[in-house]
Amino acid sequence: MRLLLTNDDGVYAPGLAALHAALAGEHEVVVVAPETEQSAVGHAITLADPIRVRRLGPRTGFDGWAITGTPADCVKLAVSELLPQAPDLVVSGINLGANVGVNLLYSGTVSAATEAAILGLPGVAYSLGTLKDPDFAYAASLAAHLVGLYPSLGVPRHVPLNVNVPALPAHKIKGIRFTRQSGARLVERFLRRSDPRGHIYYWQAGETMGTEGDLDTDYPALLAGYVTITPVRHDLTHDEILSRLGGLDLQLPSER
Ligand code: MN
Repeated sequence: MRLLLTNDDGVYAPGLAALHAALAGEHEVVVVAPETEQSAVGHAITLADPIRVRRLGPRTGFDGWAITGTPADCVKLAVSELLPQAPDLVVSGINLGANVGVNLLYSGTVSAATEAAILGLPGVAYSLGTLKDPDFAYAASLAAHLVGLYPSLGVPRHVPLNVNVPALPAHKIKGIRFTRQSGARLVERFLRRSDPRGHIYYWQAGETMGTEGDLDTDYPALLAGYVTITPVRHDLTHDEILSRLGGLDLQLPSER
């Protein structure tokens, strides 16, 4: 397959290198990744600034570009300008840290896969469930395995997949579960410090909470040792409430 690789941890991130190493043998792989870390930029795109592009030389080990944009920019620019033809699959990751529950809304990693879906291309996001001492080797080989299986899953092009891999030795991983998003969310904690000139600043240091719940949801299943795969959607409409509101007869103000 022709694969477009991107991420939100930036072009120098070890997770991207591991993913590239696992996929480049079997597939035609081009990297278009952010020049610097873009974690938690969500689905942002760059409008008020130019997007600079830098061709990646042989020294990086990648064929592709680093760009001064977001993960969503990477996919847009790759598909409309940089690649000679559309990829068969957009693969985003491997992110340093799980992307579960409410945090999908913040995730640049998932947004790259979502952007693919918006452009009518299949997309998969991969994340490793740790922030410390990551070992991407098994997650990368698993990602390559799942990329090979992707065509057989029959997932429609407008539905990206969000995959999380537990940060466990391979023999401790219990299996693969298809899950829905859990209620896990980042619980705020701000470190209040002062800079060398005495000005106060805050550094967000929240942690993802919401470990309780059933194993059909992403975070509990991940913590229990399962690889989780969640098909996601970007239409945020709440159908049930819409149909209830649709029954109301709201009028414009009488004086206009
Ligand atoms: Mn990230």
